[in-house]
Amino acid sequence: MLPQEIVRTKRDGGELDREQIAAFITGLTDGSVSEGQVAALAMAVFFNGMTRAEAVALTLAMRDSGEVLSWPELDRPVVDKHSTGGVGDNVSLMLAPIAAACGLAVPMISGRGLGHTGGTLDKMEAIPGYQAMPDNALFRKVVASAGCAIIGQTGNLAPADKRFYGIRDVTATVESVPLITASILSKKLAAGLGALVLDVKCGNGAFMDNPVRAAELARSLVEVATGAGMPTTALITDMNQPLASAAGNAVEVQNAADFLTGDARDPRLEAVTVALAAEMLVSGGLASDPEAGAVQARRALEQGYAAEHFNRMVAALGGPTDFLADPARHLAKAPIVADCLAEAEGFVTGYDTRGIGLAVVELGGGRVRPSDPVDHAVGLTDLLPVGTRLEKNRPIARIHARTPDQVEQVQAQLKRAIRIGADLPQLDPVIVGREV
Ligand code: URA
Repeated sequence: MLPQEIVRTKRDGGELDREQIAAFITGLTDGSVSEGQVAALAMAVFFNGMTRAEAVALTLAMRDSGEVLSWPELDRPVVDKHSTGGVGDNVSLMLAPIAAACGLAVPMISGRGLGHTGGTLDKMEAIPGYQAMPDNALFRKVVASAGCAIIGQTGNLAPADKRFYGIRDVTATVESVPLITASILSKKLAAGLGALVLDVKCGNGAFMDNPVRAAELARSLVEVATGAGMPTTALITDMNQPLASAAGNAVEVQNAADFLTGDARDPRLEAVTVALAAEMLVSGGLASDPEAGAVQARRALEQGYAAEHFNRMVAALGGPTDFLADPARHLAKAPIVADCLAEAEGFVTGYDTRGIGLAVVELGGGRVRPSDPVDHAVGLTDLLPVGTRLEKNRPIARIHARTPDQVEQVQAQLKRAIRIGADLPQLDPVIVGREV
């Protein structure tokens, strides 16, 4: 089956069958299909789309390009969450231990930050000693003992996605719903999940900036995952402002630690975390409906069980024992901490959320190229939710930086990214929709 004939069929608007898709993905994985051919197919799909049957076939072929895990040793439902990525989105750090404390097993294979969005893996690596890339035996051991393990993707899970994504990234073909769908789901299917919950972000800090596109992606993900045999539901959540009041690595870990111990909880972050935990519990068969799931999730938080599971996971993966007793002692701190002040009184009326993420990148807390290192210590804290009333010269954010030049540059960026106006804006709900 010649790859160029497969590209031709898609270019001309035809439908590919399962064998054609499987052959193409085999060639993509073993290198016999050239980069040009992969790029051409990606562009053909970008313009002509895929039927659901094609997207399911692509997802399964990409799943089968490497190792597929299974969890026969666990006596609990295996469920995970995936977020399409945002700013101040540290939900996974609380969600995995909450779900584990409620009786699920959560083998959470996470990614690194790229562009304006942060990555869960970079955040976990802000904890000294934390081994984010354990071998398979340790990964399994930690999932069994702590109920959850947040780790990075090993090269052998859905390796086709790694090459495919790299080529899409440099050929302007990332933003294709069927390609995003297959990319996300192939990795989750390879992790051997019994069910999946998706957090599809919608807004000016997300991949999908409008509700119509976000709903389209959520529908595609849910239908293709279900078609591939993995029951999946999705929440569409707002990303028109940072979700947590912190954005960066160590600062988001501290924020998560405060959340787990009950010292401080950002209300929008809490709403999304509890709602996703509830969805996971329903998907895993441990709650009859989302309301009952939310009650269980809150109980795990309030009674300290979620914190206990987080501590167990961190210690088992090489981090400090009893990390949550004093997280600040362990986390790196930036040498300069400076406030950014409001230039006028009024209300926070909105964010250029992507601009906030880019300010973190400017500080060194994110990366422009996949190979870039990240500075765990830098970032932003004390970000205010939309609708907050402000006096002139009140701090609108706190900058954690390495140099005075960075502070100056980021202050200017924040003043552009945080909008202040005279009138109280309309306050939009943080959970925008649900797709089942
Ligand atoms: N995240 C992924 O893993 N893949 C995509 O294609 C887009 C976002």
